[in-house]
Amino acid sequence: MGLGVEWAVQWLTLSARLMSEHREELIALDRAIGDSDHGENMDRGFQAVMEKLAQTPPETPGAALKLAAMALMSKVGGAAGPLYGTAYLRAATALGEDADIDAAALAGALTAARDGIVARGKAELGDKTMVDAWSPAVEAADEALVAGGDAVAVLAAAAEAAEVGAVTTDPLVARKGRASYLGERSAGHRDPGAVSSALLLRAAATAAGF
Ligand code: ADP
Ligand code: MG
Ligand code: MG
Repeated sequence: MGLGVEWAVQWLTLSARLMSEHREELIALDRAIGDSDHGENMDRGFQAVMEKLAQTPPETPGAALKLAAMALMSKVGGAAGPLYGTAYLRAATALGEDADIDAAALAGALTAARDGIVARGKAELGDKTMVDAWSPAVEAADEALVAGGDAVAVLAAAAEAAEVGAVTTDPLVARKGRASYLGERSAGHRDPGAVSSALLLRAAATAAGF
């Protein structure tokens, strides 16, 4: 037994709650190296996801993530909107129409999401972006899979690695996005998109019962 549409809906619901709870924290992080809007963007985007979920309840995990992708693309704006939109859309495509998502499918979806972010934003590991949360998350998920972990173990590993990855952005100099305009002055601050990514992956693990 893998994860079904109830998990996907719960993931998005917990994501919306976390974006609302961490709104001020994300705004403060973006104030230091950006334009102070990341918390507002993410909160608004996930409120739109919740509205769409209520209007048209999805029947598969893939459909839930596709719905989220569309809402995020149209409502988040800025750099993060198209990046997260692409991530969720690629994950949705990877999951296809399957009703039941096993550990391997989940690891594949996380890889597809990360690859979508990289394809869209062209950031490399160490550029102080959300990729610094997603790439270690994907690696940890693959390791958990190879070690025989189930879907919950894969998500738990991804969430923990993303949190560590977000912390590793602290000393980095930004080379992509708005923060890169600050050059060396971007060092000493945590990347807001890496933090929101870690929160979203934590929501995925919590929704699976971790
Ligand atoms: P904006 O910078 O347009 O105001 P947000 O504040 O919503 O957009 O999002 C900023 C976050 O987007 C950054 O913290 C970073 O994680 C992410 N980001 C920006 N540019 C890129 C990129 N090229 N590749 C990956 N992530 C990026
Ligand atoms: Mg911003
Ligand atoms: Mg902005």
